[in-house]
Amino acid sequence: MPDVETYPPPPEFAARAHVGPGVREAADADPLGFWAEQAARLQWDRPWDTVHDDRDWPTARWFDGGRLNVAVNCLDRHLDAGRGGKVALHWEGEPGDRRTVTYAQLHEQVQRLANGLTELGVGPGDRVVLYLPVLVETVVATMACARIGAVVSLVFGGFSADALRFRVADTGATVVVASDGQFRRGAAVPVKAAVDEAVAGLDHVAHVLVVRRTGDDVPWTAGRDVWWDELLERQPAEHPAPSFPAEHPLFIVYTSGTTGRPKGLVHTSGGYLTQASWTHWALFDARDDDVYWCQADLAWVTAHTYVLYGPLSNGTTQVIYEGSPLTPHPGRHFEVIERYGVTTYYTAPTLVRTFMKHGPQLPAGYDLTSLRLLGSVGEAINPEAWRWLHEHVGGGRCPVVDTWWQSETGAAVVAPLPGQTPSKPGSATLALPGMAVAVVDEDGRETKPGVEGNLVITRPGPAMARTVWGDHDRFVRSYWAPYADRRWYLAGDSASRDEDGYVWIGGRIDDVLNVSGHRLSSIELESALVSHPRVAEAAVVGAPDDVTGQRIVAFVITRAGGDDDSGLAEELRAHVAARVGAVAKPREVVVVTDLPKTRSGKIMRRLVADMTAGRTGGDTTSLTDPASMGAVESAWTEHRRTSSGA
Ligand code: ATP
Ligand code: MG
Repeated sequence: MPDVETYPPPPEFAARAHVGPGVREAADADPLGFWAEQAARLQWDRPWDTVHDDRDWPTARWFDGGRLNVAVNCLDRHLDAGRGGKVALHWEGEPGDRRTVTYAQLHEQVQRLANGLTELGVGPGDRVVLYLPVLVETVVATMACARIGAVVSLVFGGFSADALRFRVADTGATVVVASDGQFRRGAAVPVKAAVDEAVAGLDHVAHVLVVRRTGDDVPWTAGRDVWWDELLERQPAEHPAPSFPAEHPLFIVYTSGTTGRPKGLVHTSGGYLTQASWTHWALFDARDDDVYWCQADLAWVTAHTYVLYGPLSNGTTQVIYEGSPLTPHPGRHFEVIERYGVTTYYTAPTLVRTFMKHGPQLPAGYDLTSLRLLGSVGEAINPEAWRWLHEHVGGGRCPVVDTWWQSETGAAVVAPLPGQTPSKPGSATLALPGMAVAVVDEDGRETKPGVEGNLVITRPGPAMARTVWGDHDRFVRSYWAPYADRRWYLAGDSASRDEDGYVWIGGRIDDVLNVSGHRLSSIELESALVSHPRVAEAAVVGAPDDVTGQRIVAFVITRAGGDDDSGLAEELRAHVAARVGAVAKPREVVVVTDLPKTRSGKIMRRLVADMTAGRTGGDTTSLTDPASMGAVESAWTEHRRTSSGA
């Protein structure tokens, strides 16, 4: 782990932060009491009998006996408190169209759609798949499902018909909500025909509900297909909300598929909403006058918790943006921050690195003084990117919350409390109150500071997934079987802790490199590589080696303008040796123009590793651009040809 400077919370921020000193200690002393206190933030129709019950371990029950309606907690409650006129969403479309929706307006739309879905035969427990861009309707549909107890599953609008089909079939959805078309990097592209292809022959799909977005003509199946606006128009504007058990399923979210076939994690209602609501309030120090923007697509777990359920439960005003961050120009996000006076911006390391390629003059062209807090999620943020975000976007005055969590955990687990926890660039810091983590070896012994091991959650929070949809055995096998005797959750990430107990994520367990008996973290090596001025992005994998077990191969994308690669390999080897140590020097450096990434922007190292080991056939359904692997393969072939000839 890198030796970095510490950033204490800015004193003015700390002085008025929601979470003050002592909260973590109090929660450690009485975790269940802590969660019961946080659950009381919500409106319950019936109080719970037990806070936490492990009789069905590894499936936990939280707030068993309690009943609530998630949509009522996200909407009606704010109207009852006289806040119906408050802006819920500032929506910005990619072509530049805009819409502002108040809590009262959102509430009305949700009630109409709740009635509409009921008309389409959707009842509690039925699955509804949303295949939509970031639209107000996507939020409405999510909330309408919650209101009637239907289980929603959001599928990224950029996925192919095949990827959609897998998720519709896996969930057995009865209704698919889609748009006629969508805007993608400046162009209107058709969607509906792909939906027809995806649901063909899936008899459980009774209806396809179509939102008008691009206005283009669409193929139509009479009896099955329904226009959104026509359905809503004929519905009553009121919908009395029933209440559901705390453990009623709320949504199914598929993992990004970095390590294999995506898993559909099932999340439930009361415990999930408790942790979503509390962590949003605590981590982002949510305030009534905030303009909050989490830039994740609504289909990612990040946006479930930190756009849909968390912020709405707190009555927050949010910005949501439909399009690509680089359309029509690379400063689009900064333009949006300036336009709405965004106070809180939650982003991803991959995007920060993209901005960095354009240089600090990009954010400098906008007024970003409204910002007071920044967040990062999705991958480990390399210290250079953290500092760049802190300085060039946050003007040096905003805390940066690096939040470690997963689709499985449902909400943040390891992250700094912005008014409390000193930050170290590149570390998500410590477990949040009410939870506990450890870094352990195969036998469950805590590793010494600085030594890599498996990250486990020794005390999960109430938002933890309850099962993998349709494959409970996979849930048990993947996460709980390895440390079953202690009932610890295996996160699948490697990590180490420093002398202060701070957690440093090293990468996926499968991506840990083993060179002559040394365990090396892929993240640490990549972070060292991208700290070199000539490198924009890097993926490091271990290729099989007869002598050392594995040899380190670095695939790097150089910065714009760096056409001349001469001497690069030597420079990078020396740089990594200085930063991490001689054992970490990449044996081979391959310059590429692209890297395989998931739709959420994470590098799929396993595909690159497969290639270097001569394996083929890995799952590629999550790739954002199937052509990217081709570019890497030809660079690799060329590299092998020239290096064996040398
Ligand atoms: P799959 O499980 O299918 O391989 P995935 O793990 O990429 O996909 P997600 O659940 O969306 O799918 O991502 C969670 C993972 O993302 C974490 O396990 C971790 O590897 C990484 N991650 C997320 N946030 C952070 C962070 N702040 N620091 C380091 N790593 C992070
Ligand atoms: Mg995962």
